[in-house]
Amino acid sequence: MRVILLGPPGSGKGTQGGMIEKEYGFPRISTGDLLRNAVKKQTPLGKKVEGVMNKGELVSDEIVVEIVRERIDEPDCGNGYVLDGFPRNTGQASALKKMDPGRTETVLDIHLDDEIVIERLSARRVCLGCGKPYNLLLGDSKEMDRCKKCGGKLVGREDDRPDVIRERLKVYHQESEPLVNFYRKKGVYHEVEGDRPILTVFENIQVILNKKLENVSGRAEA
Ligand code: AMP
Repeated sequence: MRVILLGPPGSGKGTQGGMIEKEYGFPRISTGDLLRNAVKKQTPLGKKVEGVMNKGELVSDEIVVEIVRERIDEPDCGNGYVLDGFPRNTGQASALKKMDPGRTETVLDIHLDDEIVIERLSARRVCLGCGKPYNLLLGDSKEMDRCKKCGGKLVGREDDRPDVIRERLKVYHQESEPLVNFYRKKGVYHEVEGDRPILTVFENIQVILNKKLENVSGRAEA
Protein backbone atom coordinates (compact mmCIF):
# COMPACT_ATOMS: atom_id res chain seq x y z
CA MET A 1 0.00 0.00 0.00
CA ARG A 2 1.19 3.49 -0.84
CA VAL A 3 -0.47 6.31 1.09
CA ILE A 4 -0.10 9.75 -0.44
CA LEU A 5 -0.82 12.75 1.75
CA LEU A 6 -1.92 15.86 -0.10
CA GLY A 7 -2.91 19.19 1.40
CA PRO A 8 -1.45 22.67 1.83
CA PRO A 9 1.53 23.35 4.10
CA GLY A 10 0.41 23.26 7.72
CA SER A 11 -2.58 20.98 7.09
CA GLY A 12 -1.13 18.31 9.39
CA LYS A 13 0.41 15.93 6.84
CA GLY A 14 3.47 15.38 9.03
CA THR A 15 1.43 14.71 12.18
CA GLN A 16 -1.03 12.39 10.45
CA GLY A 17 1.77 10.67 8.51
CA GLY A 18 3.54 9.94 11.79
CA MET A 19 0.34 8.49 13.26
CA ILE A 20 -0.21 6.30 10.19
CA GLU A 21 3.39 5.06 10.51
CA LYS A 22 2.83 4.11 14.15
CA GLU A 23 -0.55 2.45 13.61
CA TYR A 24 0.07 0.63 10.31
CA GLY A 25 3.86 0.28 10.22
CA PHE A 26 4.27 2.08 6.89
CA PRO A 27 7.33 4.35 7.14
CA ARG A 28 6.62 8.04 6.61
CA ILE A 29 8.73 9.63 3.91
CA SER A 30 8.81 13.40 3.99
CA THR A 31 10.72 14.98 1.12
CA GLY A 32 10.70 18.26 3.09
CA ASP A 33 12.43 16.56 6.06
CA LEU A 34 14.95 14.80 3.82
CA LEU A 35 15.79 18.09 2.09
CA ARG A 36 15.96 20.08 5.37
CA ASN A 37 18.30 17.44 6.75
CA ALA A 38 20.60 17.86 3.75
CA VAL A 39 20.53 21.65 4.28
CA LYS A 40 21.31 21.27 7.99
CA LYS A 41 24.28 19.03 7.19
CA GLN A 42 25.31 21.34 4.34
CA THR A 43 25.79 18.43 1.94
CA PRO A 44 26.30 19.36 -1.75
CA LEU A 45 22.57 18.68 -2.27
CA GLY A 46 21.68 20.78 0.78
CA LYS A 47 23.71 23.73 -0.48
CA LYS A 48 22.05 23.44 -3.86
CA VAL A 49 18.44 23.51 -2.56
CA GLU A 50 18.74 25.86 0.43
CA GLY A 51 17.99 29.11 -1.40
CA VAL A 52 15.01 27.68 -3.28
CA MET A 53 13.51 26.24 -0.09
CA ASN A 54 13.97 29.46 1.87
CA LYS A 55 11.99 31.30 -0.81
CA GLY A 56 9.14 28.78 -0.56
CA GLU A 57 9.62 27.57 -4.13
CA LEU A 58 9.79 23.99 -5.33
CA VAL A 59 13.05 22.08 -5.70
CA SER A 60 13.47 20.56 -9.18
CA ASP A 61 11.52 17.38 -10.00
CA GLU A 62 14.78 15.65 -10.94
CA ILE A 63 16.19 16.06 -7.42
CA VAL A 64 13.11 15.03 -5.43
CA VAL A 65 12.24 12.11 -7.72
CA GLU A 66 15.73 10.70 -7.18
CA ILE A 67 15.50 11.15 -3.39
CA VAL A 68 12.18 9.28 -3.31
CA ARG A 69 13.40 6.55 -5.66
CA GLU A 70 16.36 5.80 -3.36
CA ARG A 71 14.25 5.89 -0.21
CA ILE A 72 11.45 3.59 -1.37
CA ASP A 73 14.04 1.05 -2.52
CA GLU A 74 14.99 0.46 1.10
CA PRO A 75 13.74 -2.79 2.67
CA ASP A 76 11.46 -1.14 5.26
CA CYS A 77 9.25 0.12 2.39
CA GLY A 78 8.50 -3.39 1.10
CA ASN A 79 4.98 -3.56 2.59
CA GLY A 80 4.17 0.05 1.94
CA TYR A 81 4.99 3.64 2.81
CA VAL A 82 3.41 7.02 3.45
CA LEU A 83 4.46 9.95 1.27
CA ASP A 84 4.29 13.38 2.88
CA GLY A 85 5.02 16.28 0.53
CA PHE A 86 5.51 14.15 -2.58
CA PRO A 87 4.24 14.25 -5.30
CA ARG A 88 3.86 18.03 -5.50
CA ASN A 89 2.85 18.19 -9.18
CA THR A 90 1.55 15.86 -11.89
CA GLY A 91 5.07 15.34 -13.32
CA GLN A 92 6.22 13.93 -9.97
CA ALA A 93 3.05 11.83 -9.73
CA SER A 94 3.76 10.24 -13.13
CA ALA A 95 7.39 9.59 -12.14
CA LEU A 96 6.19 7.91 -8.94
CA LYS A 97 3.83 5.63 -10.84
CA LYS A 98 6.66 4.58 -13.13
CA MET A 99 9.21 3.94 -10.38
CA ASP A 100 6.88 1.72 -8.30
CA PRO A 101 4.05 0.47 -10.53
CA GLY A 102 1.30 -1.90 -9.46
CA ARG A 103 1.16 -0.84 -5.83
CA THR A 104 -2.27 -0.16 -4.29
CA GLU A 105 -2.60 3.57 -3.77
CA THR A 106 -4.67 5.67 -1.37
CA VAL A 107 -4.60 9.45 -1.63
CA LEU A 108 -5.69 11.46 1.40
CA ASP A 109 -6.15 15.17 0.74
CA ILE A 110 -6.24 17.07 4.03
CA HIS A 111 -8.33 20.15 3.38
CA LEU A 112 -7.58 23.45 5.13
CA ASP A 113 -8.49 27.05 4.19
CA ASP A 114 -5.66 29.49 3.45
CA GLU A 115 -6.43 31.77 6.45
CA ILE A 116 -6.09 28.85 8.84
CA VAL A 117 -2.85 27.74 7.14
CA ILE A 118 -1.35 31.19 7.73
CA GLU A 119 -2.50 31.22 11.36
CA ARG A 120 -1.14 27.71 12.02
CA LEU A 121 2.24 28.14 10.32
CA SER A 122 2.89 31.46 12.05
CA ALA A 123 2.50 29.61 15.37
CA ARG A 124 4.70 26.66 14.38
CA ARG A 125 8.02 26.19 16.17
CA VAL A 126 10.72 23.56 15.92
CA CYS A 127 13.46 22.64 18.41
CA LEU A 128 16.95 23.56 17.19
CA GLY A 129 18.34 20.69 19.25
CA CYS A 130 16.21 17.61 18.52
CA GLY A 131 13.82 18.82 15.80
CA LYS A 132 10.66 18.19 17.87
CA PRO A 133 7.79 20.23 16.38
CA TYR A 134 5.47 22.45 18.47
CA ASN A 135 2.49 24.59 17.70
CA LEU A 136 1.65 27.50 19.98
CA LEU A 137 -2.02 27.23 18.95
CA LEU A 138 -2.31 23.60 19.99
CA GLY A 139 -1.83 23.61 23.74
CA ASP A 140 1.81 24.73 23.78
CA SER A 141 2.16 27.96 25.74
CA LYS A 142 2.72 31.15 23.70
CA GLU A 143 5.60 32.14 26.01
CA MET A 144 7.33 28.78 25.65
CA ASP A 145 10.77 29.16 24.04
CA ARG A 146 12.54 25.95 25.10
CA CYS A 147 11.97 22.32 24.10
CA LYS A 148 10.19 20.17 26.73
CA LYS A 149 12.24 17.15 25.65
CA CYS A 150 15.83 18.42 25.39
CA GLY A 151 15.73 22.09 26.48
CA GLY A 152 16.83 23.25 23.00
CA LYS A 153 15.81 26.66 21.68
CA LEU A 154 12.48 26.81 19.80
CA VAL A 155 12.53 28.73 16.55
CA GLY A 156 10.18 29.31 13.61
CA ARG A 157 11.10 27.54 10.37
CA GLU A 158 12.88 29.78 7.84
CA ASP A 159 10.03 29.14 5.37
CA ASP A 160 7.26 29.86 7.92
CA ARG A 161 7.69 33.65 7.63
CA PRO A 162 4.46 35.34 6.44
CA ASP A 163 5.86 36.37 3.01
CA VAL A 164 7.22 32.86 2.39
CA ILE A 165 3.98 31.23 3.59
CA ARG A 166 2.08 33.26 1.00
CA GLU A 167 4.50 32.09 -1.72
CA ARG A 168 4.17 28.46 -0.61
CA LEU A 169 0.38 28.72 -0.75
CA LYS A 170 0.57 30.22 -4.24
CA VAL A 171 2.84 27.39 -5.37
CA TYR A 172 0.51 24.85 -3.75
CA HIS A 173 -2.58 26.16 -5.56
CA GLN A 174 -0.78 26.35 -8.91
CA GLU A 175 1.31 23.18 -8.84
CA SER A 176 -0.31 20.74 -6.43
CA GLU A 177 -4.05 21.30 -6.84
CA PRO A 178 -4.06 19.66 -10.31
CA LEU A 179 -3.20 16.45 -8.42
CA VAL A 180 -6.79 16.34 -7.16
CA ASN A 181 -8.12 15.63 -10.66
CA PHE A 182 -5.15 13.41 -11.49
CA TYR A 183 -5.96 11.06 -8.60
CA ARG A 184 -9.75 11.49 -8.74
CA LYS A 185 -9.68 10.05 -12.25
CA LYS A 186 -7.83 7.01 -10.90
CA GLY A 187 -10.53 6.49 -8.24
CA VAL A 188 -8.07 6.60 -5.34
CA TYR A 189 -8.79 10.13 -4.06
CA HIS A 190 -10.29 10.91 -0.62
CA GLU A 191 -10.79 14.30 0.98
CA VAL A 192 -10.36 14.65 4.74
CA GLU A 193 -11.35 17.79 6.68
CA GLY A 194 -8.21 19.13 8.38
CA ASP A 195 -9.77 21.78 10.61
CA ARG A 196 -10.62 19.26 13.34
CA PRO A 197 -8.81 17.96 16.43
CA ILE A 198 -5.79 15.81 15.50
CA LEU A 199 -7.43 12.60 16.76
CA THR A 200 -10.66 13.23 14.85
CA VAL A 201 -8.72 13.72 11.62
CA PHE A 202 -6.85 10.48 12.30
CA GLU A 203 -10.08 8.55 13.01
CA ASN A 204 -11.45 9.70 9.66
CA ILE A 205 -8.23 8.59 7.98
CA GLN A 206 -8.40 5.19 9.68
CA VAL A 207 -11.90 4.56 8.35
CA ILE A 208 -10.62 5.11 4.80
CA LEU A 209 -7.41 3.09 5.22
CA ASN A 210 -9.08 0.17 7.02
CA LYS A 211 -11.67 -0.17 4.27
CA LYS A 212 -8.94 -0.09 1.62
CA LEU A 213 -6.79 -2.65 3.44
CA GLU A 214 -9.82 -4.96 3.88
CA ASN A 215 -10.48 -4.76 0.14
CA VAL A 216 -6.85 -5.53 -0.65
CA SER A 217 -6.66 -8.55 1.68
CA GLY A 218 -10.10 -9.75 0.47
CA ARG A 219 -8.84 -9.68 -3.11
CA ALA A 220 -5.65 -11.52 -2.10
CA GLU A 221 -7.67 -14.31 -0.39
CA ALA A 222 -10.16 -14.72 -3.25
P1 AMP B 1 7.47 20.67 3.25
O1 AMP B 1 8.16 20.38 4.53
O2 AMP B 1 6.83 19.45 2.63
O3 AMP B 1 6.52 21.85 3.34
O4 AMP B 1 8.61 21.09 2.20
C1 AMP B 1 9.45 22.20 2.44
C2 AMP B 1 10.10 22.64 1.14
O5 AMP B 1 10.88 21.57 0.59
C3 AMP B 1 9.14 23.02 0.03
O6 AMP B 1 8.66 24.35 0.13
C4 AMP B 1 10.03 22.82 -1.21
O7 AMP B 1 10.97 23.86 -1.35
C5 AMP B 1 10.80 21.56 -0.83
N1 AMP B 1 10.07 20.34 -1.24
C6 AMP B 1 9.58 19.36 -0.43
N2 AMP B 1 8.99 18.38 -1.14
C7 AMP B 1 9.10 18.75 -2.44
C8 AMP B 1 8.67 18.18 -3.67
N3 AMP B 1 8.00 17.02 -3.73
N4 AMP B 1 8.95 18.85 -4.82
C9 AMP B 1 9.65 20.00 -4.81
N5 AMP B 1 10.06 20.62 -3.69
C10 AMP B 1 9.80 20.00 -2.51
